[in-house]
Amino acid sequence: MTPTIIKNIECFVTRPDRHNLVTVRVTTDKGVTGHGCATFQQRPLAVKTMVEEYLTPLLTGRDANHIEDLWQMMNVNAYWRNGPVMNNAISGVDMALWDIKSQLADMPLYQLLGGKSRDAIAAYTHASGETLEQLFTAVDGLLAQGYQHIRCQLGFYGGTPEQLRTPDNPTTGAYYSQQEYLHNTVAMFRALREKYGEKLNILHDVHERLFPQQAVQLAKQLEPYCPWFIEDILPPQQSAWLEQVRQHSSVPLAMGELFNNPAEWHDLIVNRRIDFIRCHISQIGGITPALKLAVLCQAFGVRLAWHGPGDMSPIGVAVNTHLNIHLHNAAIQEFIPRSAATDAVFPGAPQVKEGFIYPPEQSGIGVAFDETLAKQYPVVYRPHDWTQSRLADGAIHTP
Ligand code: MG
Repeated sequence: MTPTIIKNIECFVTRPDRHNLVTVRVTTDKGVTGHGCATFQQRPLAVKTMVEEYLTPLLTGRDANHIEDLWQMMNVNAYWRNGPVMNNAISGVDMALWDIKSQLADMPLYQLLGGKSRDAIAAYTHASGETLEQLFTAVDGLLAQGYQHIRCQLGFYGGTPEQLRTPDNPTTGAYYSQQEYLHNTVAMFRALREKYGEKLNILHDVHERLFPQQAVQLAKQLEPYCPWFIEDILPPQQSAWLEQVRQHSSVPLAMGELFNNPAEWHDLIVNRRIDFIRCHISQIGGITPALKLAVLCQAFGVRLAWHGPGDMSPIGVAVNTHLNIHLHNAAIQEFIPRSAATDAVFPGAPQVKEGFIYPPEQSGIGVAFDETLAKQYPVVYRPHDWTQSRLADGAIHTP
């Protein structure tokens, strides 16, 4: 194969809707360009600097065909590695290189990876409400759209406290009560099962809001209601406690959206402490490391439920879909409905049809990027109040 020389690498930031989105474009001498998702919505300009000041000079003039070598070089080039800024920057380039390679092969990405292992991937999306009635209304709407798997939450992560007693002059923050959350979540599952029976597959995200023994209690109490999975029941730094959660409950556990480094997932997989891995593909460095992670998971019976939030560009959504169509241990795809403005900036992104996502069939990743339109939506800084989650006494807890 003749070399495909990298002529330029650019990074674009845009906010067509609620989230700052980061896109990398790699241009080659063969007239083929590739795009990748490098979205770190809380720190978009740091990723842009990483790409344009460091990766562009490193890679310009090199052969885009050698994705594996380029990924390994990007990963170690700064000596210190595996941080979220760097991983997202690497991911943007990595996805763009896979986009280029599959366009040169004139195949959709999933075909280049080895072809289908399923016809379509089941999608799940989010339903929430401050009250059970509001939640039921949201669930009814999604069932009517054909979803068979729904993530159900009462209020925001950790719930909305009703009986919180704080000290005088509490520090500003997003307060919640772990006891109220525990009680209300068990009651929510009971009510959902009473109303919908077994036909609804219920997912739930604890979002690291509990202390370890509370996580054990929650898993034990939810067991009779057969959750499809419980996500982030503990923060990554407390994952050794999952052993105890496992001893007391058979609820399926999902984890991984915060992981940056293979050291964070290795023990969880080989010791079978989780059922689903939820890594965010751009956060771990792109398609190249995701393929390796998927193979490790498959060997140990862990299934894939890649993170698919709103703060991921449609290019990232399409990459999740290609991986899920190809990888045999893919279980489900999280999906957040997009605005018309986002779809106009990123034409071609996958949609959900009756609860399933079908593979894109055009060559490459299959999502374009309208640079001119993107400029109409500048990124904005916001203080991310929700990450300032606090317990009643004012102490910060993992968000
Ligand atoms: Mg989550």
